[in-house]
Amino acid sequence: MAVRIDGKALAAKVKRQAAAEAAGLPRKPGLAVVLVGEDPASKVYVAGKERDCAECGIESFGHRLPAETTEESLLALIGTLNRDPRVDGILVQLPLPGHLREEAVIAAIAPDKDVDCFHPYNVGRMTAGDPVFLPCTPAGVMAMLDEYEIPVRGKRCVVLGRSNIVGKPMAALLTQRDGTVTLCHSRTEDLARYTREADVLVSAVGRRGLVTADMVKEGAAVIDVAMNRDESGRLCGDVDFAAVEAKAGWITPVPGGVGPMTRACLMRNILTAARLHQA
Ligand code: NAP
Repeated sequence: MAVRIDGKALAAKVKRQAAAEAAGLPRKPGLAVVLVGEDPASKVYVAGKERDCAECGIESFGHRLPAETTEESLLALIGTLNRDPRVDGILVQLPLPGHLREEAVIAAIAPDKDVDCFHPYNVGRMTAGDPVFLPCTPAGVMAMLDEYEIPVRGKRCVVLGRSNIVGKPMAALLTQRDGTVTLCHSRTEDLARYTREADVLVSAVGRRGLVTADMVKEGAAVIDVAMNRDESGRLCGDVDFAAVEAKAGWITPVPGGVGPMTRACLMRNILTAARLHQA
């Protein structure tokens, strides 16, 4: 039976550390949260991040903009936030409405305030192994592997999904920790051939039931990043949890696994930015 990785407990610990650090700074760290439109999931995520900020002694400045906001006015707001000395981090909640170019918006954020680590400058620094910030979800996964002393060095690591925010940076961080990494995606032929060899399997696809027990190596660490809904609307991941739990060495639940760690790592990045600005 696998050890269940308790993302909630570890996230609470990371947030306590962030709060202690925030309390020791001369000025309260600040996060600007920009939400464009009415997407219900985005509203929930933003509210959660603002609650985390309050818990960690970080000031949050909310900017709710209507769905029809122009790119010009969004970029103007980002320019203002870039110059605001109370703002250490800027978070633009994605996805944006279709008429707004996400790359242009991300590129407008000052790299030293890019606490999501989405700006090309920070992606480059992270990929080169000299990060300013770490992308929140992959950093959360690495923190869980560390906390549970799950070996990565020399191990076979398989990442499912190659998005810019999860899969690709996840593969980069595991590679930097001396894992031997295979990055799989929708065009991968015979997915199970790769997953069965994985000592560390990270699934970030968004397809319920994708990872079944026969695809998992005995004793593997199985990290489920995905957030799907089952037919009754309950949150679930990509992994067939009950069956895989019986076979894996470690497993993350959904909810209560990677999700809380992603949020905690955002708090860590805000502290990094605040330290940069208050040095
Ligand atoms: P995304 O941008 O939609 O990327 C999904 C990836 O999965 C793509 O690379 C896609 O391949 C690949 N894929 C699709 N079907 C596949 C299959 N049958 N076999 C193997 N790979 C397949 O998604 P994302 O933003 O990375 O998010 C992935 C999941 O993680 C979602 O459920 C999301 O809600 C969740 N998520 C959770 C957190 C958290 O904090 N827990 C944070 C971010 C995201 P192609 O590139 O070939 O299309």
